[in-house]
Amino acid sequence: MNPLWSALARELQPYVPGEQPRIAGLVKLNTNESPLPPSPRVAEAIAAASANLRLYPDPEANELRQALAAYHGVAPEQTFVGNGSDEVLAHTFLALLKHDAPLLFPDVTYSFYPVWARLYGVAAATVPLDAAMRVRVADYRRPAGSIILANPNAPTGIALPRAEIAALLADHPDIPVVVDEAYVDFGGETAVPLIASHPNLLVVRTMSKSRALAGLRVGYALGDGGLIEALGRVKDSFNSYPLGRPAQAGAIASLADEAYFQASRATVIGAREAMAQGLRRLGFEVLPSAANFVFARHPQRDGAALAAGLRERAVLVRHFAGPRVRAYLRISVGGKADVARLLEAAAEVLAGA
Ligand SMILES: *Cc1c(COP(=O)(O)O)cnc(C)c1O
Repeated sequence: MNPLWSALARELQPYVPGEQPRIAGLVKLNTNESPLPPSPRVAEAIAAASANLRLYPDPEANELRQALAAYHGVAPEQTFVGNGSDEVLAHTFLALLKHDAPLLFPDVTYSFYPVWARLYGVAAATVPLDAAMRVRVADYRRPAGSIILANPNAPTGIALPRAEIAALLADHPDIPVVVDEAYVDFGGETAVPLIASHPNLLVVRTMSKSRALAGLRVGYALGDGGLIEALGRVKDSFNSYPLGRPAQAGAIASLADEAYFQASRATVIGAREAMAQGLRRLGFEVLPSAANFVFARHPQRDGAALAAGLRERAVLVRHFAGPRVRAYLRISVGGKADVARLLEAAAEVLAGA
């Protein structure tokens, strides 16, 4: 181990992002990026914002926060923005989730949560999904300092109805409850209407998936002003300017193009159902997805071997090694041609061995 490293750096077990390889003709279904481009208005707004790159951006991103507030029916003081929702979530771990009693999250969920818990020394405990890989909110009735759920969950894609989130909040009125809605636009029910009556609820969103802006890095949180103030304290102890001028302008332009947003989300949902059906025809079991990916396994095949076979055919999907998920592949919804190539490659791999 390099002696120049801090003790902290030596102990870290970082999150491993999905690969971004440059292989010609690659079908890339491993990082839940959108198969569609963002609204054309985003590029126009970014070009206009680029005229002023000499100047620092608004550190509070007031114009973007006003647009988010108007879009979601909350007050600007109930909004917080960051460099991707990963940054918003990281600040949330420090600002709201670190208490003496443990932070609870599912045993199968976004694998960044345990990474932040370790980085920031947040006591954490996992709560197993049930046998159908669903979150059961009754299982969270135990001593807890805070709770975080992804809804729809990742990598299962399964969504909890809003009534279940309301039941969770009723069980835990006095601790922070965070709902990570990275995929909610693909068929989930948002918890945002519960914010008005629950000052302990924080909803985290991203523009990376349903707004096709993964490359711009814009995430945000919505919640009671008291929670938002804590996030601002951490942000201003870390980086006062997390969003550059292009990101702020691009995000505002995306919010302004509602027709484009609705059309692309409908396209992705339709493509997801076609992809799931194709996989089922090949013998895969596909969990019911409310996201822009599916989580699927083949009863006779090893997940790692399937992922490797697809990779040999230039089709990239995500495989996780955890004990409950290693049989599965997480496959992002692609465009028509990509889905056709996926199904063709999967058929070949299944026929091969
Ligand atoms: C993709 C993802 C994020 C992070 O999104 P960014 O805004 O791109 O950082 C957060 N949570 C979950 C569950 C995700 O899948």
